[in-house]
Amino acid sequence: MAFDYDLFVIGGGSGGVRAARVAAQGGAKVALAEESRYGGTCVIRGCVPKKLMVFASEFPTALSEARAYGWEVAQGPFDWAVFRARLHAELDRLEGVYRGILGNNGVTTYDMRARLIDPHTVELADGTRHSARHILIATGGHPVKPDLPGAEHALVSDDLFLMERMPKSILIVGGGYIACEFACILNGLGVEVTQFYRGAQVLRGFDEEARGLVAEEMAASGVGLRLNTNIAAMEKVAGGYRVTDTNGREAVHEEVLFATGRAPNTADLGLEVAGVAVGRKGEIVVDDYSQTSVPSVYAIGDVTDRVNLTPVAIREGMAFVETVFGGNPTPVDHDLIPTAIFTQPEMGTVGLSEEAARERGPIEVYATSFKPMRESFAGRTTRVLMKLVVCAETRRVLGCHIVAPGAGEMIQLAGIAVKMGATKEDFDRTVAVHPTMSEEIVTMKTPVRTA
Ligand code: NDP
Repeated sequence: MAFDYDLFVIGGGSGGVRAARVAAQGGAKVALAEESRYGGTCVIRGCVPKKLMVFASEFPTALSEARAYGWEVAQGPFDWAVFRARLHAELDRLEGVYRGILGNNGVTTYDMRARLIDPHTVELADGTRHSARHILIATGGHPVKPDLPGAEHALVSDDLFLMERMPKSILIVGGGYIACEFACILNGLGVEVTQFYRGAQVLRGFDEEARGLVAEEMAASGVGLRLNTNIAAMEKVAGGYRVTDTNGREAVHEEVLFATGRAPNTADLGLEVAGVAVGRKGEIVVDDYSQTSVPSVYAIGDVTDRVNLTPVAIREGMAFVETVFGGNPTPVDHDLIPTAIFTQPEMGTVGLSEEAARERGPIEVYATSFKPMRESFAGRTTRVLMKLVVCAETRRVLGCHIVAPGAGEMIQLAGIAVKMGATKEDFDRTVAVHPTMSEEIVTMKTPVRTA
């Protein structure tokens, strides 16, 4: 049977664009449909604008440190309108780069929504139908709010990049990556931030000691972090929202941000009609090769709700192309993925937390927490953490956890060693780079705990 395309990709985010590009470079006839902006969550409303906001928010601290280092600098106000205009110009540029990548590689693009009609056919919003030997769904996810009266007016992370003006105060609900990152960003930009987290400590699932230090530093830098607290009721009032929390306290916040998780974009995609199985959270169920229950349909990235990170979606896209167009079945390796949370200070982590490692067998824990030279000189009390979790039997480093300025950069490199299966002795025989914070990762001699 002759198809219009070898591959039809639905979704122009990081994963979809990479798969389309690589397949087209290999000679496949490829089309891609995107209903919104090219670049997807990462480029348009996630990682990239978030990181630029992280940079913007770090200047007040840098300026106060500069004064301690002898510079005469005065701190003026932050002009959100100026920053926002530059931010959006940059996002427009990046979107152009993504479009360019597709165009330059001969991928046909359709700027509209697409849905499946059957295992080999896609229907576009304009009613046209296109057949394809393979269909790749890479539609990502979206933020979700709890079902609470009044929540419909509140913000989600997508809205933060589009705000007309910076609020004076904000309540952030949630304790995951997005809640903690934006609590730090907005706090740095001068917004009065209150954060509610329903559990005992933010960043559930990460190493206890590491997340404890992040929470401590967040609170010390001015984030009003309230643990074991959730929204009980909210109503729109003049000047913001009156919020009652689960402990009975009431306060008015100009804005409320729900950072309470994300859900896969699988609604109205024609999955049921085509016979593509979805899981309990609406995620597309795939095997190790990203193949769905329909052999001609594959899915990658957040829509599959495996590990929801841009570089993982990109790898899944590459592995899909290698499997389907390269004739080389390639499973995606989801083990030992390094990741960073861009709080202030950042957390960089790879491998098992101390708590998870303990469940698996005997371990040794090497950890040190100290005031780094740069901040200490400036009179700041901020602390950092370097931590290794080591298997007592094999000596392999099972987990590396860093809380420090620049931890995201550090963990990328430590991640190579951990992925290679480095032992504690491999770390030990590496000479320290002095004077740095990260040298501590190779100079810890005695375990602080065994378990
Ligand atoms: P997460 O799933 O990480 O966190 C959701 C948070 O909201 C949790 O603290 C959860 O609490 C809480 N929550 C969920 N439902 C409710 C509710 N009904 N009421 C109150 N609190 C609630 O989601 P995020 O939105 O922060 O991030 C989504 C994903 O995006 C991340 O997991 C990550 O994969 C990715 N991401 C990665 C980034 C990076 O690499 N730096 C940055 C941003 C996002 P509980 O812990 O109790 O379940």
